[in-house]
Amino acid sequence: MSLFDVNTVRQDFSGLHHIVHGHPLVYFDNAATTHKPTDVIKAEMDVYQQCNANVHRASHYLSSIATQRFENARHKVQHFINANRPEEIIWTKGATESLNLIAQSYALSTLQKNDEILISPLEHHANIVPWQIVTQQTSAQLKILPLNNALHIDTQIVQQHISKKTRLLILTHVSNALGVINDVAALCKLAKQHNIITIVDGAQAVGHFPIDVQQLGCDFYVFSGHKMYGPTGIGVLYGRFDLLEAMPPWQTGGEMIQQVSFDKTTYNQLPFKFEPGTPNIAGAVGLGAAIDYLQKHDRAQLINYEHQLMNYLLNALDTFSDIHVIGSSKQVEQPDKIPIAALTFSHAHIQDIGLLLDQKGIAVRVGHHCTMPLMEYLGVSGTLRVSLSFYNTQQEIDWLIESLHNILEHAE
Ligand code: PLP
Repeated sequence: MSLFDVNTVRQDFSGLHHIVHGHPLVYFDNAATTHKPTDVIKAEMDVYQQCNANVHRASHYLSSIATQRFENARHKVQHFINANRPEEIIWTKGATESLNLIAQSYALSTLQKNDEILISPLEHHANIVPWQIVTQQTSAQLKILPLNNALHIDTQIVQQHISKKTRLLILTHVSNALGVINDVAALCKLAKQHNIITIVDGAQAVGHFPIDVQQLGCDFYVFSGHKMYGPTGIGVLYGRFDLLEAMPPWQTGGEMIQQVSFDKTTYNQLPFKFEPGTPNIAGAVGLGAAIDYLQKHDRAQLINYEHQLMNYLLNALDTFSDIHVIGSSKQVEQPDKIPIAALTFSHAHIQDIGLLLDQKGIAVRVGHHCTMPLMEYLGVSGTLRVSLSFYNTQQEIDWLIESLHNILEHAE
């Protein structure tokens, strides 16, 4: 293992230090949500204790402090993903809401009958259902791309499926079920050559490696705070300024307007046009604190540590003849996926294994992981997913492996 000091890092996460069914908690469900460092919890609490007021609306002291912190967090997000300007950062509840916003504003207002949307089977339901709804509304068509042998979407596949009617390319940056990373920059470059708008789901990417939306060349990029050590209930929609500017509002109410009269209502400027009602102020500030937390570490070191943990896990899983790792189970020099292992078992049910692991204090996720079309594509009903973070340890993996040996021995 590298010099990365995991024990120091673990002290920042009070939520990890539980005893579950008599065993220390081993939290391997990081793709569902990550734990939050004390800095994030404190930042949220501080908002309520130090500047509890609504933002943008009042001229009093507390409101101006709350507004400053809220807008400061927007700037942090802007720099975190290297967006061109702060107006390109729209606060939402999470990736799900961001995707619905794009579908119901951008797509609904631009798609025509028989236009085509390319989508991959890797997608989370949150990046499928909004497109099904909008195709029903517009009579546009969803075209499903096949995956390559490494279970990625690649440029060759996309190229083969582009037609004159292709308007949108919908793709996940990283699969939440398998951990595979798509080459988003290459895919966006290809899309741009054909005037296709790209919508990238970054929910599983932002917590694992740096994102630069300008370098990726995407038109929209979405993510949730809670999967990158931030709070639940806050997320981000990044959109290219000119696209956002031309889009009609989606949800409406206070704050998103400029002038309201019963004759004619006009809308606020970006980003407020898409932020009706009182926002999640503490959540946004908490997300800003999560960004600060990630950035105070050497991110290359975090990536390297997670990669080493993943290889350690894959190596250990290799010793089981009746456990199958979907996708690459081989160790690789460079990370080509985030640390997620999707497992199936020859002689045991994943639900049973999940419950028995819980009895050992080990939290994993079993089921379809909100990717039913992917499960169908892979021909499995579900998987047991082990998803790691930089606060996990080699000893925790040892305990997982020992527990699996134990469980499978008794299952036979
Ligand atoms: N996209 C991916 C790839 C995800 O993993 C998730 C959550 O698991 C989502 C979208 C939806 O995120 P949220 O539930 O935070 O809106």
